[in-house]
Amino acid sequence: MDIREALRYLKEYDGPEISVMEICGSHTEAIAKSGIRDVISKKIRLISGPGCPVCVCPSGYVDRLIGLSMQENTSVVTFGDLIRIPGKEGSLQLAKGRGASVELVYSPMDTIKLALANPERNFVFGAVGFETTIPVYPLLLEQAAELGLGNLKLLTALKRMPPAIDYLCQNGARIDAFLAPGHVSTITGSDAFCDLSLRYRVPFGVTGFSEAQLVMGLYGTVKMVLKKEQLLKEEGSLVKNFYPSVVTKEGNRKAQEKMAAFFEPGDAVWRGMGVIPDSGLYLRREYAAFDAGSRGLTEDEKTNPACRCGEVLMGKMDSSKCPLFGRICNPETPQGACMVSTEGSCYQNYLAADQRFT
Ligand code: SF4
Repeated sequence: MDIREALRYLKEYDGPEISVMEICGSHTEAIAKSGIRDVISKKIRLISGPGCPVCVCPSGYVDRLIGLSMQENTSVVTFGDLIRIPGKEGSLQLAKGRGASVELVYSPMDTIKLALANPERNFVFGAVGFETTIPVYPLLLEQAAELGLGNLKLLTALKRMPPAIDYLCQNGARIDAFLAPGHVSTITGSDAFCDLSLRYRVPFGVTGFSEAQLVMGLYGTVKMVLKKEQLLKEEGSLVKNFYPSVVTKEGNRKAQEKMAAFFEPGDAVWRGMGVIPDSGLYLRREYAAFDAGSRGLTEDEKTNPACRCGEVLMGKMDSSKCPLFGRICNPETPQGACMVSTEGSCYQNYLAADQRFT
């Protein structure tokens, strides 16, 4: 099967309706940019899931970062869109405008340079991310320990993907298959989805990010849905790896070991979705000196009561149906985190709607 044949199949598909959720925020962005949604059959529905690390940051976490940034002699260090996510007390960007100390960096490792250059000041890195990003934090802490830096800490909001998918399967929209996250799978391995796929009888297609990889991954995943019973009987598995150039069955063992050495699982709050058991990672007691107070968030408070991020992230609602979408909530004045990040489905929907008008 070549890509043209696969695309033609997806365009002309006229079988039972199939809902496929892409879990990864990078997939949400890649799918939107590729335009694949507009060319495939209406009977194949692509739904965006909760895999954008910025989108799932609870407001209480943002408020903690803001509180730290206002403390005397303390700077909060962050990268990406985290600075713009609304908390109950506004965003870090607004706090910076009010005099809080917030430093933007390109890599978490840049925090080392800041801490070395300013030994009299404390630096707290806002450590968010999934399995893809998490392995960088042990490296950062190992270097900090080697250099004897006592002025560097992390405020973590680290998330694990498999428990979130488990939660979605029990509480989210009806999903016939998942496009498993390509980046996360490089670390976890494709086997990380085997238990879930069998427990919920839902196929997982590990997929890359280029247009060709998306088409082939989606084609393969749709085929898995249609041949589900046969696959279970003949292969006993509903996980297929359509991204073998990067992803293996067992993943990156070294990164997994490092993560396990520094972090332990615990319950975590996901924006709009609530507390998901064991879906977070927290620094182990041995490394408590590096923790700026990450534990203890127990509930999510909406920054705007009308924001429907939770339903959007769980695939229960298209973001364009949110009453605030495009009018009050847009990338300039985001009311929820899904409108902040380029990986957020509200942001991507807004961009698509904007392009249709121009
Ligand atoms: Fe929340 Fe804005 Fe998305 Fe509505 S459009 S769900 S307010 S982020």
